Amino acid sequence: MKITGIEWGRVSIPLRTPFKTALRTVASVEDIIVKICTDTGDAGFGEAPPTGVITGDTAGAIVGAMEHHLAPSLLGRDVDDFESILLLTQRCVMHNTSAKAAVDMALWDLYGKLYRIPVYKLLGGARKHLITDLTISVNAPAVMARDAKIAVERGFDCLKVKVGVDPRLDVERLTAVRQAVPGNVTLRIDANQAWKPKEAVRILNDMQDRGLDIEFVEQPVAAGDLEGLKYVTQRSSVPVLADEAVFSPADALKILQMGAADLLNIKLMKCGGIYNALKIADVAELYGVECMIGCMLEGKVAVNAAAHLACARQVITRIDLDGPMLCAADPVRGGAAFQGKDIILSDAPGLGVTAVEGVQPIGCLGSC
Ligand code: MG
Repeated sequence: MKITGIEWGRVSIPLRTPFKTALRTVASVEDIIVKICTDTGDAGFGEAPPTGVITGDTAGAIVGAMEHHLAPSLLGRDVDDFESILLLTQRCVMHNTSAKAAVDMALWDLYGKLYRIPVYKLLGGARKHLITDLTISVNAPAVMARDAKIAVERGFDCLKVKVGVDPRLDVERLTAVRQAVPGNVTLRIDANQAWKPKEAVRILNDMQDRGLDIEFVEQPVAAGDLEGLKYVTQRSSVPVLADEAVFSPADALKILQMGAADLLNIKLMKCGGIYNALKIADVAELYGVECMIGCMLEGKVAVNAAAHLACARQVITRIDLDGPMLCAADPVRGGAAFQGKDIILSDAPGLGVTAVEGVQPIGCLGSC
């Protein structure tokens, strides 16, 4: 199976409601879609959402990495030489983890198609059903309580509540959300780096003292402040999950060695795809630390790939793959079924995606 062409283009998917965190407000998912074509007629699909505020990867950067590094490196290569092309994807350009993730998942898709096996089975997975949480954007407490109630009515029983915009309101926000939902609904929170270490400990302990029953807090302090993260982990009554602080497998190892977090959040867009995500999962397993699989604001191509990974590693115990559930449209054909909180993988070969509609072409190399 030889790579004969690589195409990339843009797709825009409107959101049900604007997505608001401590870092940004967004009204639609803007994605770069990658398609890798082969001489067998099979095509592999990948996706990279430009999330400059977290990964540093803008749309222009993703397109530049595709045009100048990734596509020229891969054209003409044999998919059966799989480890070599995965390594080439990681090594042909520095950083650019989102573009690498898009290419990496398209290559896994093709490798599965080559051997007629779904990727989760290729990785040894036995489960094909996941239950995701749903994100509640940060807003005024009453608005968040209303959004949480709507989410529960849609069938979700685990909510990830964004906090950190005007931290004085955060305890009030969680109190309003907790009162609006049944007691068996799990609440986890994400501060997206908004708090200082001492402030984080004070807010989190206050929340638990009030009986708000928070499962864990995601990235309470600045991504680069590992000492601060460790400070919160050691003193807070709420478990701490590292998100923006862990991009690469080396980041994960450092956090684990320091004991700086209780949990790790794996996202394909941070680590550069399934190849590196597997290393993070493996090192976390060695340290007895459980992982969450997360996503950016992204569509079904990339979230479907993350779901295959999650089904193949038992150390991934928490699922935050709500990107497709936040979208008002779905241009992706094939792949997993996203039905409310349930994600059910397809048993089609590879990642199972067969087409992405409405892609505006940007560039190509070779022919598809
Ligand atoms: Mg997060």
